[in-house]
Amino acid sequence: MTVVFALLGTAIGSFLNVCIDRLPAGKSLIYPPSHCEACRHRLSLQDLVPVFSYLWLRGHCRYCQSPISRRLLWAEVGSGLLLAFIYWHYGLSVEFVVTAFYCYLFIVIGVVDLEHELILNKIVYPAAVVALIVDAFLPQPGILDVFLPQPGILAGLIGGANGLISGAIGFVLLLIPALIYRGGMGWGDVKMAALIGLVTGFPLVFVALLMGVILGGLVAGFLLLFKIKKRKEAIPFGPFLSLATIATLLWGSDIINWYLGSF
Ligand SMILES: [Zn+2]
Repeated sequence: MTVVFALLGTAIGSFLNVCIDRLPAGKSLIYPPSHCEACRHRLSLQDLVPVFSYLWLRGHCRYCQSPISRRLLWAEVGSGLLLAFIYWHYGLSVEFVVTAFYCYLFIVIGVVDLEHELILNKIVYPAAVVALIVDAFLPQPGILDVFLPQPGILAGLIGGANGLISGAIGFVLLLIPALIYRGGMGWGDVKMAALIGLVTGFPLVFVALLMGVILGGLVAGFLLLFKIKKRKEAIPFGPFLSLATIATLLWGSDIINWYLGSF
């Protein structure tokens, strides 16, 4: 089964590539059908097999030989491994579906920010609505589990409130640095932090944001130190928040338990 989900994951990765390429440009996800960006030739089924087509064509368009972005391959491979891992972690369950959805969501947000330095409202806003609905029906894992009553209206209200409060926490936590260090962090990051709160809930919102800030700070420091980036150049923060959120979705409860257990 794990292999089946790995293959399914690579197919989802293909779709994520379409989202990453088309959403920032304001293009439709379904029309026109997949084509080479260079020569506009429509791609046939044999050009669209995840991972294998890229390797078989050695990363070049079959029709015009233009190179194909390596990200297409990595997104497919990564998505496949990720889905296999989430399946192994959760088994076939609601958590599996929700975690996979969120991980893929944050891959799209993170890669779009990496490539365009943009966090798209048209992804973040609908995702926030979905997250709030999920919060009400599937309360976030964490120490709040102890207080949660049986599934029902009350549990739904608590889950929704938890999501909203955590979203507000995320919003405020990144609003402060965004206001102080203008330029480094933008409105997109603040809205993304609110979404992360809605998705992860309390107390995991702290784990995700703290991890994102530390990771971003370390990498930015490294890039500046070795002069790969100049001080004036913007380093998008969204990819780090995305990575940290995915890690929190997968291991956040373990991190909290380890932290609480170390007292
Ligand atoms: Zn071509």
